[in-house]
Amino acid sequence: MVLYLGMQEGARDVILSELRYGAHNYAPLDVVVERGEGVWVWDVAGRRYLDCVSAYSALNHGHAHPRIRAALVEQSARLSLTSRAVYNDRLAGFLERLCRLTGYEAALPMNAGVEAVETAVKLARRWGYDVKGIPPDGAEIVVFANNFHGRTMAAVSASSTPQYRKSFGPFLPGFVFAPFGDVAALRRAITPATCAILLEPIQGEGGVNVPPSGYLAEAFALCRERDVLFIADEVQTGLGRTGDLFACDHERVRPDVMILGKALGGGYYPVSAVLASRALMDLFEPGDHGSTFGGNPLAAAVGSAAIDVLVEERLSQRARAAGERLLGALGALQIPHLREVRGRGLLVGIELDVPARSLAQALLARGIIAKETHENVLRIAPPLIIDDETLGMLVEQLVEALREVAPTVAPSS
Ligand SMILES: *Cc1c(COP(=O)(O)O)cnc(C)c1O
Repeated sequence: MVLYLGMQEGARDVILSELRYGAHNYAPLDVVVERGEGVWVWDVAGRRYLDCVSAYSALNHGHAHPRIRAALVEQSARLSLTSRAVYNDRLAGFLERLCRLTGYEAALPMNAGVEAVETAVKLARRWGYDVKGIPPDGAEIVVFANNFHGRTMAAVSASSTPQYRKSFGPFLPGFVFAPFGDVAALRRAITPATCAILLEPIQGEGGVNVPPSGYLAEAFALCRERDVLFIADEVQTGLGRTGDLFACDHERVRPDVMILGKALGGGYYPVSAVLASRALMDLFEPGDHGSTFGGNPLAAAVGSAAIDVLVEERLSQRARAAGERLLGALGALQIPHLREVRGRGLLVGIELDVPARSLAQALLARGIIAKETHENVLRIAPPLIIDDETLGMLVEQLVEALREVAPTVAPSS
């Protein structure tokens, strides 16, 4: 492919080999990364980049955080996996940290974020039947246009995005769609058979969509009024990303069920969890639900270190200050093709009226890795540990890249 001709040979070989042997379910940027530290990664030619993808917010702590790495190394030498057939000496400490951090009474550990979503869906349905009294197999969960909850059949059944669903049916029934950010529409979508609403407080993959102010609180009040669980998917927005511990905190909403993942693994390991009250969580009894790897000692040690670092290094506060500066600097820009800059904390979306891939490529040439989400939006989400000097550089490069790209691309239809 012409694309790779200018590339360093080592990188091109890696890419061609991956294309040859791998499934083509991603379209990565043309960079082969071999090392990461803090907010930086290096490619196979030794070139340094600022990582503004942060593995979709799984790297809130940055690459190779020394304390999380130490926890991983130490634990890996002692005990890695037991399954839940026995107790392990690490899980309790992790669950306790998680509950103390968040104020929830009980936590259920899984691995990938989507598994925690599945867990929350099962929990909500069970509550719907066993507590609310919805007739068998009739429970509905309201989900929102442009959501992203992962890639399992339940998650794509709950998706409104045609590409995520195409030729994957039949889908799981029981999901009802509502527009995001519209309380009146949500009110209409809720029926006596509704057990829960499942929502991202800010839609990440959907294009960094921030709902109107007051929406979360009103949606929550509606849930109370109609006896419906409020499930927040904070896999991407949680753990400091938006300048609060959770994006729901911004409107003082405490979801009935909280879904966490990504940064819970400290950039090292897939760790996810569902948080709820004791009464809700006790709807699961032994054998009802589980995971071979969920809550394993290595995950628990890494997750515990990730929580400790989050708190001690005040990552939420850092994200808030950095985000205000970033949004402040970009918000005032008047550049052709720049439609809107939005977000909260260090989850920022730059919407163009042209495909954002060209901006991503211009940034890559300037040593910044960022990627489009939904064709016209570029997401900027560096590790929360980014310092002032690097943030200043990021703003400068973003402005220059926007100016460079703006006149060269034709508007999309
Ligand atoms: C990434 C993401 C998921 C899925 O997490 P995986 O670890 O990829 O399974 C679910 N919900 C949201 C909001 C996400 O951003």
